[in-house]
Amino acid sequence: MSREHGSKPGVGGLRSDGQSNVERRKRLRQLALENVNLEQDPYFLKNHIGLFECRLCLTLHLNEGSYLTHTQGKKHQNNLKKRAFLQAKKSGMVRLPKKKNKKIIPKRPTIGRPGFEVIPQIDSQTKEKSILFKIEYPKIEKDVKPLYRIMSAFEQKVEIPDERYQYLAFAAMPYENIAFRIPNEEIDRSRNKFWSKWNTKTNIFSMKITFKIKKQNTIQIFNRNQNSLKNVVQQNPNQN
Ligand SMILES: [Zn+2]
Repeated sequence: MSREHGSKPGVGGLRSDGQSNVERRKRLRQLALENVNLEQDPYFLKNHIGLFECRLCLTLHLNEGSYLTHTQGKKHQNNLKKRAFLQAKKSGMVRLPKKKNKKIIPKRPTIGRPGFEVIPQIDSQTKEKSILFKIEYPKIEKDVKPLYRIMSAFEQKVEIPDERYQYLAFAAMPYENIAFRIPNEEIDRSRNKFWSKWNTKTNIFSMKITFKIKKQNTIQIFNRNQNSLKNVVQQNPNQN
């Protein structure tokens, strides 16, 4: 290491003035040229007037070193990426997202009927009859709130109209609509007797309906009708 004793600190080859910087670049370029075989570069072209062209970027270069510097630059690199992508696309290796189809689908498919629970109740003190419905919609569409509708026997189109009954229908996409046949008695719409609640945590839609007390022997009528409290399917109650 006797050679190193002779050089002054801070005057090494890399830390030098502008002149030797130029020389250093020239040397590096030469080194790069030796390591890169431009003959195999498909985009390298020496044209008829002795200039060098990049056939990818359509740029002209005075010498091979300039061309090489260009190949390390942003423009050339980006064009290489674009070219690679186009080739991959052509060979089917890349799937592009399909353009959005703007056709309107008239009717969306449903996934079947929801699960449900029907709980008839009679208040032991007032003797009021009520029914609590619990409809389960675990796969309900985002931001959809279940809807209900009470229909007369003549509004519904599924069963032969029978004026002893009316129908309570529930709808929530993507589920099939369902309807329940209930006694055709006056419904008490006062608070706590007629309500519906959509629980977004359990995805259960609850609804309570209470029938008004009649002076006649209503309990007997209710008990008779309760046997026919039956689930029926309503295709689309909103269209009736
Ligand atoms: Zn280029």
